[in-house]
Amino acid sequence: MTAIPDFPVGTNTTISGLGSSFADELSGLSVPWQGAEAPDPELLALNEDLAVSLGLDVAALRSADGVAVLAGAEVPAGAKPIAMAYAGHQFGGYAPLLGDGRALLLGELVDADGDRVDLHLKGSGPTPFSRGGDGFAVVGPMLREYLVSEAMHALGIPTTRSLSVVATGRPVHREGAEPGAVLARVAASHLRVGTFEFAARQGEVVRALADHAIARHYPDLLDLPETGENNRYLGLFTAVVEAQASLVAQWMLVGFVHGVMNTDNTTISGQTIDYGPCAFVDAFDPAAVFSSIDHSGRYAFGNQPAVLKWNLARFAETLLRLVDSTPDAAIAAVTAVLDSFDTRYERHYRSGLAAKLGLPEDSLDQELVDDLLTLLEEHRADWTVTFRALADELRGNPAPLDGLVPRERSAPWLERWHAAAERDDRAAGERAEAMDRVNPLYIPRNHQVDAALKAATGGDLEPFAKLLEVVTHPFEARAEWNEYVSPAPRSFAESFRTFCGT
Ligand code: AMP
Ligand code: MG
Repeated sequence: MTAIPDFPVGTNTTISGLGSSFADELSGLSVPWQGAEAPDPELLALNEDLAVSLGLDVAALRSADGVAVLAGAEVPAGAKPIAMAYAGHQFGGYAPLLGDGRALLLGELVDADGDRVDLHLKGSGPTPFSRGGDGFAVVGPMLREYLVSEAMHALGIPTTRSLSVVATGRPVHREGAEPGAVLARVAASHLRVGTFEFAARQGEVVRALADHAIARHYPDLLDLPETGENNRYLGLFTAVVEAQASLVAQWMLVGFVHGVMNTDNTTISGQTIDYGPCAFVDAFDPAAVFSSIDHSGRYAFGNQPAVLKWNLARFAETLLRLVDSTPDAAIAAVTAVLDSFDTRYERHYRSGLAAKLGLPEDSLDQELVDDLLTLLEEHRADWTVTFRALADELRGNPAPLDGLVPRERSAPWLERWHAAAERDDRAAGERAEAMDRVNPLYIPRNHQVDAALKAATGGDLEPFAKLLEVVTHPFEARAEWNEYVSPAPRSFAESFRTFCGT
C-alpha cells in the first residue's frame, strides 16, 4: 500500500482558521498535498467584495505573502490542503479515477451568511491525480473562469465564485509557451456526482459522504430517518434533482452552454462549476456547440436538460444501497424521483420564461412559447437582445424588434402575446420595467471575452477589467457600454470554438 503523505505544515498567516471537514470526516477520498512553487507571482485579479464577505483581509491578500498563498506556493498556517479524489462519466464513458489533477482544496471558510464554503486552487501544480496532465493552468482560461463565473453570479445564477487569479511566472506548454496562472475559487463545496461515483465503488464511505453532503447542503434532511420510505438519502437525491433542475433551467433561460457536462462537473450543491469550454448563444439554437471536442453534440445547448437528467441517474446509482436494502425497492424509489425531473425542469423554465416575457405564469401557453422559439430561430434573432426589444415594444418603441424580425412575421405572434397579458392588471410600462429586471443587457459575449483574454495574455489587463465591470452589472443600462450589447459578427460566431482543460 502506498503511504499517504502527511499534511504539509504551513506558516503563512495571510488566511487563518481554514477548516478541513472533508478530510477529517471522510477517509480515502483525498490525499494531503501542496502546490508547486511560483517563480514570479503577480496578482492579476482580486475580488475584493468576495474577499470581504469571507472575512479576509484585502491588504494581506495583496501582500507578497497573500499572493504566495493565492498562487498555491505557500500553505496557510493550520491548513490541511488536499487533492480530492473523484470519478466521472466523461462524454458518457466511465473514468474510475479522475480527481484534482491540477487543483487543491486549501480549506473551508465560513462566509458572512454563516455558510461554510471551500477555498480551492486551480492550476496549482501536479498531484497524484494528474495522470498525463502537467497540473498547471494558464492565464487566459483562468481569467475566463473568473469573468464568466462572476457574470453568472451577477445574473443571479447559482455558481462557484472567483476570488483571484495569480500569474505564476512559470511558462506552461500549450499550443506554444503560455503564462501559467492559478485561480482561487470559492464554492459551496466541491462535492460532485463524480465524488459519489468514486465513493460508491470504495464501499461504506459512500454513506459517510452522503451524511456529510446532507449536513453541509441540505441540513433539514437530518430530521428524516436513515431508513424507511421517506429516508434522508432519498431526500438527498430529491434535493439534488430539484437544485439541478432549477440550475439547468436558468442556464437555458440565459443562453448558457456549459460545454462539458460530465458527471464530475455536476455539483451536489446545485452550483455551476468548471468554466472551461462554456459559451453563450447569440441566436437561439438548440444545436449550438462550441467545444472543440464535442463532436457528437452531446452537450449542445438544447441537450443540457436531458444530459443533466442522465447525470442524475448516475448519481442515483451511487445511492441505491442507502435508499433501500432491497435493490428492486431502491430502484423503484429513485426512479420515481428521477421521473419528476422533467416536470421540475419545465416548472422552472416556464416560470422564468413567463417573467422574461412579462406575463403571469398561467398565461403562458406552450404554443406561444414554441412559436416564439421558431420565429427567433428562423430569423437568427439574438436571444438576449430580443427580450429587451420586447420590453421596448411595450413602451411603444417598435424599432429594436423590427431590427430582429420583420414586422409582418412578428405581428401575429405579438398580437397573441398582448392577448396573453390581458389578465395582467399591471400597466404596460410597469411590465416593461419588470422584464428589464430579469432580462440582462450584457452577457459575456464570446467575441468580447476572446478579445479581452488575448489582450490579458499579452499583458494588457485593461479590456478584461472593463468587460468584467460590464458583465457584473448585467441589468444596468449605460450609454458608454453600448458596444457590449451586440452579438458577435457572423464571421466570428461561425468559427468560434472553446477548449477543455487548458
Ligand atoms: P475538467 O474537464 O476541467 O473538468 O477536468 C477533468 C479532469 O482532468 C480533472 O480530473 C482535472 O483535474 C484533469 N485535468 C484537466 N487539466 C489538467 C492538467 N493540465 N493537468 C492535470 N490534470 C488536468
Ligand atoms: Mg472538472
